Amino acid sequence: MKHHNARYDVLIAGAGFAGSLAALLLHQLGRKVCLVEKAKHPRFAIGESSTPAADMILRRFASSYQLPWLEAFSRYGSWCRTYPEVMRGLKRGFSFYKHHPGKPFYTNAEHDHELLVAASADDEHSDTQWLRADFDAFLVSKVQEAGIAYLDLTEIVEVEEDGNGLLFTVQQNGRTGRLSADFFLDATGGPHLLHRLWQISSTVEGFHTDSFAVFSHVEQVPLWEDVVVQMGYCTEDYPYRADFSALHHLLDEGWMWMLRFDDGRVSVGFVLDGHRQAMADAAAGQVWQQTLSRYPSLQKLLGGSRLSAQPGKWLRTARLQRRLVQMAGSRWVALPHTAGFVDPLFSPGNAHTLSGLERLISIFQEHTGQHEKLQHSLQHYARELRAELELIDRLVAGCYQTMPHFGLFQAWSMVYFACTIAYEKHRMSSSQPEGFLLATRPEIRRMVTTCVRALEDVLQKGDYSPRQVQCFTDKIRECIAPFNTAGLLDPSAHNMYRHTTAKV
Ligand SMILES: Cc1cc2nc3c(=O)[nH]c(=O)nc-3n(C[C@H](O)[C@H](O)[C@H](O)COP(=O)(O)OP(=O)(O)OC[C@H]3O[C@@H](n4cnc5c(N)ncnc54)[C@H](O)[C@@H]3O)c2cc1C
Repeated sequence: MKHHNARYDVLIAGAGFAGSLAALLLHQLGRKVCLVEKAKHPRFAIGESSTPAADMILRRFASSYQLPWLEAFSRYGSWCRTYPEVMRGLKRGFSFYKHHPGKPFYTNAEHDHELLVAASADDEHSDTQWLRADFDAFLVSKVQEAGIAYLDLTEIVEVEEDGNGLLFTVQQNGRTGRLSADFFLDATGGPHLLHRLWQISSTVEGFHTDSFAVFSHVEQVPLWEDVVVQMGYCTEDYPYRADFSALHHLLDEGWMWMLRFDDGRVSVGFVLDGHRQAMADAAAGQVWQQTLSRYPSLQKLLGGSRLSAQPGKWLRTARLQRRLVQMAGSRWVALPHTAGFVDPLFSPGNAHTLSGLERLISIFQEHTGQHEKLQHSLQHYARELRAELELIDRLVAGCYQTMPHFGLFQAWSMVYFACTIAYEKHRMSSSQPEGFLLATRPEIRRMVTTCVRALEDVLQKGDYSPRQVQCFTDKIRECIAPFNTAGLLDPSAHNMYRHTTAKV
């Protein structure tokens, strides 16, 4: 086995974009790194929709760690020009359409059943949808180009720990080998490896969100905005073309994502509320068909589509929510997607992952060789991760609670956008990496707690009359005011928000 018996400063498991970037960043800091992947690139992966915060972090990595080639991936225009062979899509913002079971989609001139929130000012500077098979394979090629040890089709089966470091037993193509390292970084995007190596368990305890997903890539999907126009609705005042965004179709029992790539492939998935769903044991394709058939306009949109070659089938997850009971140890640490996950609504995953990586890299940079300081910082990182998962969970759970009542959803979802604006603004003014969405900041926590109380209040009353929805909206507008530099909930916007991000 190649790299057998070598000794590394850091062994990283999982060559998703996070594991590869971790390897490249640590390499730039002069660390000797080995990256171990159990699959082989290119491979299908989910987690495609980028956000302004994710792009900002990619740019910081590019400039602070001398990885200039990475910068092009942080904007749609430069990505297309520089790496046309790495497939991507244009993502101008977040779009939401409310559907009702058994009825074709309907709205009105005031866009009462639509909500479009722009995240970028134009296509050139826009966020992107990452075709993960391509993007992740490209990053691995950069890992190899840098001369970093890379082992694919490799499983880590065991670890022994002594005063000098970690000794891993690994298997590749049926052959067993040994690798030693001072430190272990888990970028596997799930809890299983840490359970195998250090018996760390994962829990759903404390989560308010309860959802699972059914998804795949499909082709031959007409543009949704064309369907809306054919129905006689005006889209002239849309801030961007709706199909070139993270398109969310809100249902009563959950929502559907649609992310379009430039080659015509479309990533689609239902994320269904586990509290309401009676499909606990149904196969992925059956959940897809049954849910689609309840919503005539979605059936019309997707009825003629066919599965893409990759992955070529419908996939389904178990309950999405999970959190490790321990996120760092004396010689190991978990990246955010290993440490826990809430739900893909609003696409926080990749930005969260990158923000965790950003903090870890600066911890390694500052404290390597200083055991106590390193431990202290890792425990702080773990506490922050827990707070971030809690915050995302609160915000997303409120979305599921309000999904059947779009007026409430329109107001509640703005609490999430207010948090992202606060985080992006902070990033613009400081070079110190801070917790994702400023989740541990008292002013953010106070705002969210007050909003949660207002939500509980309206849900408890069960009165969703226009007057009550207006009262709730007024309350949320007042709560988010200190962070709301984007005119969120301005009635004259009619659910069309053009400028929500800090200028980048
Ligand atoms: C249904 C769904 C939809 C999502 N949509 C979005 C979205 O639109 N936008 C967004 O920002 N985020 C989204 N996310 C979150 C997103 O998937 C994660 O943020 C992202 O994948 C994290 O990247 P990663 O590299 O840390 O992990 P992953 O992408 O999970 O990569 C982990 C890698 O580790 C490898 N691996 C696994 N086990 C082992 C092992 N034992 N040994 C070695 N290698 C191993 C895997 O093969 C893989 O290559 C979504 C998540 C889900 C579940």
